[in-house]
Amino acid sequence: MNAATNPLHVALALAAAGVPVLPLRRGKVPFANCRSCKDGACGGRPVMKAAGPCRCPAPCHAWAAATTDPHVLASPVWAPVWREAVAVAYHPGGAGLTVVDLDSAAAVAWAREALPATRTVLTTRGEHWIYWGAMASSNAVRPGVDIKSLTQYARWLGPGTGRMVDLSAAVRALLVKEETTPAPGEVVSSVPERATWDRSVATGCRHNERYVRTGLERGLALVRARTESGAGSQAFGVARFLAGQHARCPGPCGLTALGEEITAAAVSVGVPEPYARRAVANGLEAAVERAA
Ligand SMILES: [Zn+2]
Ligand SMILES: [Zn+2]
Ligand SMILES: [Zn+2]
Repeated sequence: MNAATNPLHVALALAAAGVPVLPLRRGKVPFANCRSCKDGACGGRPVMKAAGPCRCPAPCHAWAAATTDPHVLASPVWAPVWREAVAVAYHPGGAGLTVVDLDSAAAVAWAREALPATRTVLTTRGEHWIYWGAMASSNAVRPGVDIKSLTQYARWLGPGTGRMVDLSAAVRALLVKEETTPAPGEVVSSVPERATWDRSVATGCRHNERYVRTGLERGLALVRARTESGAGSQAFGVARFLAGQHARCPGPCGLTALGEEITAAAVSVGVPEPYARRAVANGLEAAVERAA
């Protein structure tokens, strides 16, 4: 192994650039906890969600061991670990980054349609899309799509190509889905007062009423069909799609009223109103970003 591929050398270079790193063992996973940290007996590290007092000098607790401190990385305690390490991971959230991990060709194709272009890194099966800004992490926000940022690690596969851009509403909205699942037995909140779309609020729209209504009704049906889960992200998608239809209208097109109808449809299948509103607002905003 030369200096360019030796995991410790890679790790020290990243740490010097402010990226917290940790070693990965065979199988591309973090090393097991030491005996005193086994099964969380130590209480965990202070940076973890359930913050504990652990000050273990070994690279225990997966992402929570990630550090930029060269003295820790090159310490005698980590030395045997680096000898076994096969790869380096980093804590994206700790570096102020978010990695959208696209694990299949289909997921990459989806991202090219749905997300702003940014720096990309090739992976074994797909791509990492890297954005400025940290957010909560979540697995499987869509088929083959994970968000890795805070409290997560991502494998370092090189600097990638392309200009990195800020996290956009389209990326943040991928998390809306999880928040919208109503608690079991929770009473569905009342449907908000609805402002309905009609031609009179769309004085600058180049489409006829039938075109807009048909699109809206189809979108509302998609949202209402999500009675189990995913109505929030569906509302986001419908809002983005419908707003996109008006990207070349001089406006106004009554998008606020369209948004109200989508929000009401999401609330009617159990999405808490604040989340529904945010998902729809994010969707309308994402359409503007894509058109810009
Ligand atoms: Zn330990
Ligand atoms: Zn520990
Ligand atoms: Zn229009």
